[in-house]
Amino acid sequence: MPVCKVNLRIYNKMDRIVTGTIFGGFARVAVISVRDAVNEEIRLHDLTPLTAAALGRAMTAGVYLGANLKDKDDSYSVSITGDGCIGGVCVAGDGNYTVRGYVSNPHADLPLKENGHLDVGKGIGQGFFSVIKDLGLKEPYTGKCELVSGEIAEDFASYLVKSEGINSAVALGVLTYREGCKSAGGIIVEALPGITEDMLFILEDIAGQFGNVSELLYQKTPEEIFEFYFGHLDAEVFPAHEIKVRCSCNNEKIEGVLTSLGEEECRNILKEQGKIEIFCHFCEKTYRFGEKEVDALWQK
Ligand SMILES: [Zn+2]
Repeated sequence: MPVCKVNLRIYNKMDRIVTGTIFGGFARVAVISVRDAVNEEIRLHDLTPLTAAALGRAMTAGVYLGANLKDKDDSYSVSITGDGCIGGVCVAGDGNYTVRGYVSNPHADLPLKENGHLDVGKGIGQGFFSVIKDLGLKEPYTGKCELVSGEIAEDFASYLVKSEGINSAVALGVLTYREGCKSAGGIIVEALPGITEDMLFILEDIAGQFGNVSELLYQKTPEEIFEFYFGHLDAEVFPAHEIKVRCSCNNEKIEGVLTSLGEEECRNILKEQGKIEIFCHFCEKTYRFGEKEVDALWQK
């Protein structure tokens, strides 16, 4: 679709999640675009196309979980651990549409699959899909299930049904080129209580047409994708929310980590290493504490 490509790119500038209901409220749809977020992570972590694809797909799943949190201050983390060359993928965010992530081995790479696609499934391998949600309660919510394929979309759908009892269709994709990421995001359709067999049949048929979702996100805006696939199904579309990459680390939190270590342990590390360094994997910031800072911490 060569027409207006430049304009579309400008219109597609903002990462966002577009949600809505269809069938008069018996299913929910989310169309998510995280291209800019993936490009930020590529620059920050020096990702290969393979690891960018894995992280971008996981970030899309994360954004969806974040959007479903009740409170803006609630937070979540997704961790995908596998025995493949990527190692693990970690994504975290909150109900305010912020997201951040990293992979264990950012330089991991594999030959393309026969169909020309990145082999994320092999890169992740076998392992687990885990979610922790801090909902402001005494104990956080945790859910964990085995990976199905390592391709992340299937794994997320499997997590949703096994851990949260949500029947869904999930399509995730990241389109990369030499200079970075052209498009990234996904479409997630969630069946709600009361949905009929006929409605499910229609949804299965539509989900079967998602095909290459990253190419779709390159050609269309999230709003256009919503309208194209679901506009005719008694749909109600809600205002889009902008997605931002933001790390939640700060001095106060890191001091909290030191406090939980205990004064004796901190003094021991100081004695052995001369300083205490805490590295944030999400934003690659290093926090350094010398004797003076540690003294001050326990005087508080
Ligand atoms: Zn950080």
